[in-house]
Order: sequence, then C-alpha cells, then structure tokens
Amino acid sequence: MKLPTSKEACPCESGKTYGACCQIAHQGKAPTALALMRSRYCAYAIGLVDYIVRTTHPLNREAAKSLEERKKEIEQFCKSTDFKGLKILDVQEGETKSTVTFTAFLSQAGKDFSFTEKSTFEKVLGSWLYWCGEFS
Ligand SMILES: [Zn+2]
Repeated sequence: MKLPTSKEACPCESGKTYGACCQIAHQGKAPTALALMRSRYCAYAIGLVDYIVRTTHPLNREAAKSLEERKKEIEQFCKSTDFKGLKILDVQEGETKSTVTFTAFLSQAGKDFSFTEKSTFEKVLGSWLYWCGEFS
C-alpha cells in the first residue's frame, strides 16, 4: 500500500481521512494510546518502518535486536503482508498506561493471518509507546 494523501481514506479504517487521522501521529505524536495503536497498524500497512521503530518501547523484546535487524524484519513483514482491516474491541485508557484489544485482518501469500491482540502502551516522556502484546 502506498502512502495516502491527506485527503484519502485512512488505511486504519477509522472512516476519517489520513490527514485527520494517522498522519497527525506519523508527523508528530499520537495524542492517545488508541491513536498510537491505529497509527502503528497504519504504518505497517504503508511501510513506515522508522515510525514503528520509534514508537516501540525500549523494554519491548524487539528492542534487544540491532536497529538494522529490526528495520529489515519490519520491512519484510510490511512487504509480505496484505493489511485488510482493523477492528478495535476494547480500550482501557490510563494516565500513563493503557491497553487496546484489537483484531488485525491480515493475509500473507493469500492465507489468512488475522490475529487478536491485547496491546499494552506506556506514556514515556510525553509520548505513547507500544510496550508488549498478548494474543487472545
Ligand atoms: Zn488512521
């Protein structure tokens, strides 16, 4: 998927335009954990590898890998995956810690690869970061 213009529909399927939705996070920062979650899904869909890296918590296990390795893995994942949609199931917003449960509809090489995850986010120095996720 290509980078949408600000007037096109946002790939996170919020029903808003990209400019009124995830572009705000991609060009600055996400105002809430939910906005961050959506903007990360959207970043995977359009291949914004650096955004995925910069919004991942330093305590996430991925952060133990080298930056080069992480970028290569994310890029590979973005290229080999079709992003078919996102459904938010539950949101628990806290001051510095929030969780979002969602289903991401994905496919790889024509096979369904959808999953449901409860993600935990932490606000670090004013920015929401993706900490960890648990499949459910
Ligand atoms: Zn969006």
